[in-house]
Amino acid sequence: MHLKTRENPVISAVIPAYNESQGLKEAITQIAGILSACESSWEIIIVDDGSRDQTYQHICQLSETEPRIKGISLSRNFGKEAAMLAGLEYAAGEAVFILDADLQHPPGFIPEMIEKWRAGAQIVHAVKRSRKEDSAGKKAAAYCINHLISSLGGINIKNSSDFKLLDREIVDIIVYKLPERERFFRGLTSWLGFSEEYIYFDVASRQGDESKWSFWSLLELSITALTSFTSLPLRIVTFLGFATLILGFFIAGDTIISLINGQAVSGFATIIITLLLIGSFIMISLGIIGEYIAKIYEEVKERPHYLVKASVGVSKKSGITGRPAV
Ligand code: UDP
Ligand code: MG
Repeated sequence: MHLKTRENPVISAVIPAYNESQGLKEAITQIAGILSACESSWEIIIVDDGSRDQTYQHICQLSETEPRIKGISLSRNFGKEAAMLAGLEYAAGEAVFILDADLQHPPGFIPEMIEKWRAGAQIVHAVKRSRKEDSAGKKAAAYCINHLISSLGGINIKNSSDFKLLDREIVDIIVYKLPERERFFRGLTSWLGFSEEYIYFDVASRQGDESKWSFWSLLELSITALTSFTSLPLRIVTFLGFATLILGFFIAGDTIISLINGQAVSGFATIIITLLLIGSFIMISLGIIGEYIAKIYEEVKERPHYLVKASVGVSKKSGITGRPAV
């Protein structure tokens, strides 16, 4: 652990925003107020993830009144994972926060997280204590997905959120040393190791309208989370293969006995059942393999994670190879 003894560290806050014009100004004003109370040097980077409303115009207005508020506008909706990465690539701070634009990640915890960082933590995770706002279905889905990934992928993401503080060293690793296309940020930060600390928060009510995640985008995120952290589903396919093989031996024996006893036709039902069973196992197995192949295809295409259409206040990408001065 290395203690942060620097007098005036620069703190960055990365905020992905998709169609957030309704509550954005209020959220940014609150976050800016809290950052100002903590440190003199800070910046807020709002990443407009291809919003169809006035989000980017609001970012420009905010930036005009406070130049420490900066914005990037992506050419289309690339998803929250890509938007967060874009923000991290442009962030120049020694400590970088990631928070939602809807105040569901309470900015009131920022000072406590900075304290933990100053005390030597390189990643400060904010863990959700409750999910008051979410529907029973969403709670159950989040519980299942998080537990599944935690137990299969060998990383602990139970109740974790994207609300985090990352040290510059961690940001540089995420931006420069993890070349994978398909990202699951929450899992990646746990996978990294380093010195981690936790704070616990209650999920606040959502500012503005409803959640930006559709059922399909959540399903997609869950599949990415699973396939990028474990190959166990592929192994299950092999186990299923062995199981059906053993079943096959028994049924073959049964059929032969029926044949010897002259009752071969009565085995018709068994054959139909076996065909159905094996057929479905093969379909599932192909589907699982297909998921992994699709991921490999995504990786080899090496397309950029996002494209920037416009920006305000930011100069160039940060990191080891040249950090812009704030
Ligand atoms: N978001 C984004 N791109 C998307 C979907 C969401 O940048 O495609 C942002 C959104 O603006 C918000 C954060 O990600 O700042 C979390 O989204 P939301 O509040 O809809 O999700 P939930 O609170 O349900 O996890
Ligand atoms: Mg939210």
